[in-house]
Amino acid sequence: MHGSGLHRTYGGAAMADRPHLTLIPRQTHRIERGHSWVFRSEFTDIVGEPTDGDAVEVRDRRGVVLGSGLYSANSQIAVRLLSRRSPAFDRDFFLAGLRRAIALRDERLPGRPCRRLVSSEGDQLPGLIVDQYGDRIVIQTTTAGMDRLLPMWVDLLRGELSPVQIVERNDLHVRRHEGLPERVGVLHGPAGTRITARVGKVDVDIDLLDPHKTGAYLDQQLNHEAVARWVRPGDRVLDCFSHLGGFALHALLAGAKEAIAVDSAEASIAGALRSAELAGVSERVVTHCANAFDWLRAADDARERFDLVVLDPPSFTRNKESVAGAMRGYKEIHVRGLRRLEIGGRLVTFTCSHHVPAPLFLETILAAAVDAKRTLRLDESLQASPDHPVLPAIPESEYLKGFVFTVVDA
Ligand code: SAH
Repeated sequence: MHGSGLHRTYGGAAMADRPHLTLIPRQTHRIERGHSWVFRSEFTDIVGEPTDGDAVEVRDRRGVVLGSGLYSANSQIAVRLLSRRSPAFDRDFFLAGLRRAIALRDERLPGRPCRRLVSSEGDQLPGLIVDQYGDRIVIQTTTAGMDRLLPMWVDLLRGELSPVQIVERNDLHVRRHEGLPERVGVLHGPAGTRITARVGKVDVDIDLLDPHKTGAYLDQQLNHEAVARWVRPGDRVLDCFSHLGGFALHALLAGAKEAIAVDSAEASIAGALRSAELAGVSERVVTHCANAFDWLRAADDARERFDLVVLDPPSFTRNKESVAGAMRGYKEIHVRGLRRLEIGGRLVTFTCSHHVPAPLFLETILAAAVDAKRTLRLDESLQASPDHPVLPAIPESEYLKGFVFTVVDA
């Protein structure tokens, strides 16, 4: 499990004897800068015999403590640090972390019923994601350590927020890296999981347990409203990769004449239609359950004209190796989207892959603009809503990058 060449001795359970590992000297830099992941390839020495979810200390060669966190026996990321010191990881420690996370949302997103309450590394609680939908809570644990603590988290959330219901949505592929099974269910409260909740300015119907439905993408909540501010009365808007149509519906509420939402998932399109009804804009929305690549190609061939085009695709890349292919995909949709805009038209575009840094994304958009013969002005840069905190030391926490452009020459 631990790879060859590991020297192991056995330590006691007392904190002073917490199992510890020693980083290879040239591997300490990232941790010292504040990243929280220790890869299995970055240490040679492990003292004590940690098992899944155990607290471990990370030291440099001189024995200086760099931090401590929870151990994952199966993952390439062997430890995720919870602290730069070595405190007891008891109920009080985690309660303080939860309170800190909730206070940040109260400050950054006051009055919003739907919000990400805990955002893993972004809240120094790696492996824990908690979303709030009004009086319901959805919890995900993506590491062995946090999974072991799930009953405690349910308890703490009940104590702090008195939610009507807590749902576990652990049908996540990433859990496989940790040797964890996929699992969903109601952990507290009534069995029914269908709810209506207000995300931004629209109500969405979601079933917190339906495997075909993903709740709302809360990271785009504020961006729906930010983009709506660029809409002019009478605009024709295209929302590609729309999911529940957040961009389309907010554009309609801002005065767009018509909005077209395209998504390949039937559940997303059904949800968008339902939200349009609830918002009273269903006569002005057109939905297409289709592959957006094909749909854009057809729209391009038919010389459709839009005033504002939104491109918000899923991450096309899960690793560095597939970045080149992903960039070709990004370029294609940008060429087609841009060709459907004339001078004054607006392009709103996002990448949610942390493997695609903003400069590379911009370069790809510019290459597409060259092909489409459009000159762009950058009007606004966007990032994930502020309930998804960004830590500069952890580039993965800054995964969502977006831009609003206006076509100034064509
Ligand atoms: N814009 C949405 C979030 C989009 S997430 C919002 O603001 O809430 C990405 C969406 O792309 C998902 O809903 C997924 O169903 C959809 N999708 C994935 N591949 C697709 C494809 N090839 N064509 C169209 N939609 C696709």
